[in-house]
Amino acid sequence: MEPRFISAVADCLPEHIAVIDASGRIEWVNRSWIEFGRRNGAPEDVAWVGRNYLGACDPTPTGPDPASVEVQAGILDVVNGVRQEFSTEYPCRDEDREGWFLMRVVPLRGQGPKRFVISHHDITDRKLAEDRARREATRDGLTGVANRRALDRFLQEEWSRASRHAHPMSLILFDIDDFKRFNDLYGHVGGDECLRRVAARLERHARRPSDLFARFGGEEFALVLGATPGDAALEIARAGVRAIRRLEIPHAGGRSKRLTVSAGVGCAVPEVGEGPHDLVRLADEALYEAKLAGRDRAIGAAVSTGSVLSA
Ligand code: GH3
Ligand code: MG
Ligand code: MG
Repeated sequence: MEPRFISAVADCLPEHIAVIDASGRIEWVNRSWIEFGRRNGAPEDVAWVGRNYLGACDPTPTGPDPASVEVQAGILDVVNGVRQEFSTEYPCRDEDREGWFLMRVVPLRGQGPKRFVISHHDITDRKLAEDRARREATRDGLTGVANRRALDRFLQEEWSRASRHAHPMSLILFDIDDFKRFNDLYGHVGGDECLRRVAARLERHARRPSDLFARFGGEEFALVLGATPGDAALEIARAGVRAIRRLEIPHAGGRSKRLTVSAGVGCAVPEVGEGPHDLVRLADEALYEAKLAGRDRAIGAAVSTGSVLSA
């Protein structure tokens, strides 16, 4: 096939393509390569052919900075026949847009001197979709806080960490008081809005990387506090209960005519044979006590079995 025809086809491709020789010298680029360089500040008349791609791995008008040590090593591996192909995904800014590219190097098969094809493929849409899917998989759709799946995973991780370091960790369960009645009085839409406000307020008590606030289910929320003893956790639970009282959300069916929550605190130093579910059970029992005692309060787990501490 005629070279000009092949070249015209390559110019139609969205991928930015360059052909280099074994020393890294650019021998040919397609139109997308030139246009991408131009959009990222390369002079109009930049001569790509003759430049050394490996050298040009320092910040270049190509915009993306594929020039990390890893990329250089990958290209050299392909040039030296150590591997058949090298590819890597990297972030880059194209104009004002955050973008992602897949960079790939393969030998150009055929006669003549050794040549290699470098291509940059825009994978921004896929990356953004993956990010969105990842976020959605761990967020509660109504309140936007972490969901039950994220909570279970985090709880297990903190439990393992606490077990390795033999230090205590705590869990607070919050439950909105008389929420069924709230729904009856203000409708489900009003109930949903209330859940959002309560979640946003309580989430502020997750302050450290080892803390996670999540929707436990329905009108219940959980706050995991890694490396936190029971007395400190109880203080945080009390602060949460106070904060919701201070929101002063009217609740004509509530005991104090405003919306309140109850909280149960569990604390444990993990031991062999125990799991995070023991901590959940403790917090749940304490929550039950808080409800029995009149609601609108926080109570620490009173039971102390094995290594499980009382708050
Ligand atoms: P208590 O003080 O003992 O906790 O009483 P309660 O009425 O809050 O407890 P109960 O478990 O009887 O009722 C919980 C209510 O929470 C019932 C359910 O309709 C409501 N609920 C659960 N999830 C949602 C939701 O996503 N949106 C709304 N609007 N309501 C919800
Ligand atoms: Mg409940
Ligand atoms: Mg409730």
